[in-house]
This record gives sequence, structure tokens and C-alpha cells, in this order.
Amino acid sequence: MSAIDNNREFDVVIVGGGPAGAATGIALQNIGVGKVFVAEAGTYSKPKIGESIPPDTRKLFQRLNIADAFELQGHEPCLGSFSCWGSEQLGFNDNLFNPLGAGWHLDRRRFDKFMADQFTQGGGLLAGETRFASVSVAHNATYPFQLSFDNQPPVRCRFVVDATGQPAIVARKFGAQIKMQDAMLSIAAYFDCKDTDLNALKLTLLEAINLGWWYCASIPNNQLVVSLTTDATIAKEYALKDPKNWFALLNQTAHLAGRVNTLAPPAHLHYWKTPSSLLNPPAGNGWLAVGDAASCYDPISSQGVYKALATGLKAAQAIADWLDNKPNTLGEYRQYIGNEFINYLTQREYFYQQEQRWQDALFWQQRQAS
Ligand SMILES: Cc1cc2nc3c(=O)[nH]c(=O)nc-3n(C[C@H](O)[C@H](O)[C@H](O)COP(=O)(O)OP(=O)(O)OC[C@H]3O[C@@H](n4cnc5c(N)ncnc54)[C@H](O)[C@@H]3O)c2cc1C
Repeated sequence: MSAIDNNREFDVVIVGGGPAGAATGIALQNIGVGKVFVAEAGTYSKPKIGESIPPDTRKLFQRLNIADAFELQGHEPCLGSFSCWGSEQLGFNDNLFNPLGAGWHLDRRRFDKFMADQFTQGGGLLAGETRFASVSVAHNATYPFQLSFDNQPPVRCRFVVDATGQPAIVARKFGAQIKMQDAMLSIAAYFDCKDTDLNALKLTLLEAINLGWWYCASIPNNQLVVSLTTDATIAKEYALKDPKNWFALLNQTAHLAGRVNTLAPPAHLHYWKTPSSLLNPPAGNGWLAVGDAASCYDPISSQGVYKALATGLKAAQAIADWLDNKPNTLGEYRQYIGNEFINYLTQREYFYQQEQRWQDALFWQQRQAS
């Protein structure tokens, strides 16, 4: 924080140093907006979910000028995916035929730290353990926004970016509201596969069941992540946060059970909210939201990290224009976030409609009705 002690005025302050916040900072540097500060509450030391990224993310790394550095990180390639969706049979989608090559299974902790490092190596200032507390606005000032943090001195800036992820905590202080389209829950376990050959299979597996859907992927450090996405009400009814019940359900699956039957039941489970939601509005006078703060997508899309980088790139141009007294691109940014969300909902609806085996089951009725 010592650098901030001497330097409390910035063109842009980005709250949240996840992939969206870091991408926005890198893109701003690339177009010449130099005085940017990222305030991050954490320290990049905790494990994080959200690891599968599609092959076309490569294009976004190129646009951010970090493609070569990313390749050097050596994240696990994702060679394709199996899915049991809409019928008992297991289908296969092979990345071998994708002209962009394989996707990746990221080590998220290392990836998020890499993105933050790319920003600071480009000259940006990032402070960890700096939790945003409040924002106030002074009219007719060169730096109209003052942001306060827990345990840190305040800073002032011309433009504020909310990159805090699902809570969109800064945008809500500006009066924006989160419009919830669907609310689900993912319950996951990490398995150590060092002494098995499971992790050698660099393929994801998706399997629909009457209560929701299972997902399994190899991740770096010889680990396997297995998650169940369902409704909070269903999780409660079947007590699925209890590792015994969760593991018993896993072992009833048609395909996934065969892949995990050599593994011991997990000692504990992790769970996350997995909403489909849109921030309204995603930008206003002197502020905008990026990544999950602007919109959250169902993890079935594997688009969360891609969207974080894409919105960061789009936002940087809108911010540069705003600082250059060309405010119209903020309206275009709002439109972009809304249009992308509608495209996402259309694809999601199509995907859930493909599964018609359990028309009386609450999970599928709710997804198909929405
Ligand atoms: C179960 C699950 C599975 C998923 N699977 C995938 C997947 O396979 N592929 C995929 O691409 N995506 C997946 N996602 C989504 C993906 O993880 C997110 O879309 C992505 O992390 C969004 O990046 P972000 O930078 O917008 O937000 P985040 O990654 O949430 O980063 C927000 C940052 O803001 C910081 N922050 C929060 N509050 C404050 C504060 N008050 N002050 C300062 N800093 C703050 C946080 O510490 C954090 O570093 C999944 C999500 C879940 C929950």
C-alpha cells in the first residue's frame, strides 16, 4: 500500500482484481490510460472454482497482448468433452477439429495471480488486502469520486470500475440492481488423483440427472473437480451438502460413477451460488461494471472467464472515450452487456430444452419454463 500513500489520485480505480478487473487494467494500459489502480480484497492464495475455458479465449489473450506469456504458464489443455445430455448415450466433442486448438483447465489461483502480475508489470498499481467500503461523489471536481477501504487511506479518481464479481458491490452503491433470471447452486469436491490414472484423461464429462447435472474435470496438480449443479430447494430436500449423500448420488450416475469409483468419499464439500443475472444498468455516469459484476452466466456455458476478459476489453475503450469527453460509448457498453446476456439466455434455453427425459422433475421444469 505504500505506493498509494504517495499517490492518491488516479484516472481509473478498479475495485476487484479477478480476471475482469485485471483484464480491464491491462486493456486500459494498452490504449494509453496509465494512472490506474486496482484494489483487491484478497491475496490470490485461496483455491478458486471456474476453470474450463474455451479455445477461442486465445483470441482475447492476443488482443490483450498476453498470449505468449499465458502459454508459458502451462495450464492443462482441455482436449474435448463427453456429455450425457438428452439421452442415455455419451456424446463426444473433440477439440482436435477446432481450428483454434484445445481449450484449457486453469489453475484459477495461479491464473488470477498471472493476470494481476501482467497488469503490474505493465506499470499498474495493485494493492491486495484492500477491501472496498464506500464511494462518495463530489461534483465539479477533477477527481469527483472518492473511494474508501477497510484499513487503508481513501483514493480519488475520475472513473470507477466495479469488478467485484457476483456481489457487484460498487455498482449497487451507485443504485444499480441485480436482476435475477435464475438461481442455482453448485456443490463440489476436489479429489487427489496422484496415484490413479484418472487425471491423465484431459477431458471433461457432463452428465444430466433428474436433480440437475454433474460435471467432472481434471485440473492441475493431479486433482479432479466433481460438481453437482442443482436448485437450493433440491439440495436442502436431499441434504446434498452432506458429503455422504452427495457421494451416494454421484455413485448412482450412469457414466460418471465408473470414472470415480476408485476414489474415497470426500471429507468435505464446497458450494457456490451459480446465478444467471444481469446488472441494471451495467454502467452510469463515471462508472461501469465488468465480468460477473455486470452479468452472471450459468457455469454450463463455461463462459465466465471468457466474458471477464471480453468485457474488460470492451470497457477499456468505453472508459478511454469517457475520459476523452466522448461519453456515448458508455451507452454502447450498456447495450453490449444487455445484448450478450440475451444471446446467452437464448443459447442456455436451447441447451436445457435438449434434455426431455425428466419432464416431471422440478429442476428441469424450472429451467425449461424460464
Ligand atoms: C461453481 C462455478 C463453476 C464455474 N465454472 C466455470 C468454468 O468452468 N469456466 C468459466 O469460464 N467460468 C466458470 N465459472 C465462472 C467464473 O468463475 C467467473 O465468471 C469469473 O471468475 C468471473 O471473473 P470476475 O473477475 O468477474 O469475478 P471474480 O473472479 O469473482 O473476481 C472478483 C474479485 O473481486 C474481489 N472483491 C470482491 N469484493 C471486493 C471488495 N469489496 N473490495 C475489493 N475487492 C473485492 C474478489 O476478491 C475477487 O478477486 C464458474 C463459477 C462457479 C461459481
